[in-house]
Amino acid sequence: MKIIMLGAPGAGKGTQAKKIAAKYGIPHISTGDIFRANIKNGTELGKKAKTYMDQGLLVPDELVVDLVVDRVNQDDCKNGYVLDGFPRTIPQAEALTEALEKMGQKVDFAIDVNVPDENIVKRMGGRRACVTCGATYHMVYAPTKKEGICDTCGGELILRDDDKPETVQKRLNVYHDQTQPLIDYYTSQGILRTVDGTVDIDDVFRAITEFLGA
Ligand code: AMP
Repeated sequence: MKIIMLGAPGAGKGTQAKKIAAKYGIPHISTGDIFRANIKNGTELGKKAKTYMDQGLLVPDELVVDLVVDRVNQDDCKNGYVLDGFPRTIPQAEALTEALEKMGQKVDFAIDVNVPDENIVKRMGGRRACVTCGATYHMVYAPTKKEGICDTCGGELILRDDDKPETVQKRLNVYHDQTQPLIDYYTSQGILRTVDGTVDIDDVFRAITEFLGA
């Protein structure tokens, strides 16, 4: 099953993507995580991506597309995958469709996790990320056992630069301009499914599994 997660930054698509990956036994591929790992490791790609990410802007398409196409060609993707944070522009979506067509494949579902902007701004301020392993939490909705400390690795938790309020508003503007057109793109392919992202995490997941199947 090949799945794309759509939705504004902070809509909870990462959380749902991880749950889908675990239930269906397919890899969760987050381009944001890939960039953050590259930044942490000081790679050339990381250095280039950071200048855009810190400003709430999208990394240029040419830095993202090959990376994702290579990743979905790896062995563990044979039975499918959940793409989280890709595609984010029409050219990225077209590049993906084209690359998959060459392999005789196609995306099965594009899931739009729908949350109004005002809820997003409130949510993002409570997000915390581990400086060591990158795990994400939320002070209200997904708190750690010990405040400020990562449950997974014991690392320190911080508010990511790209989750700061001024950057969040900019990321929402970027989302409406560049990513929202993908809703029409995947609607016209007949594979868009929209779920209400304002309800409980488990209820969002239940709505998703209803159309993905058992
Ligand atoms: P995310 O963790 O998915 O919210 O991504 C964090 C940041 O990484 C975004 O705000 C972008 O700057 C960058 N990024 C992640 N995925 C993409 C993509 N497909 N295209 C362009 N930039 C991306």
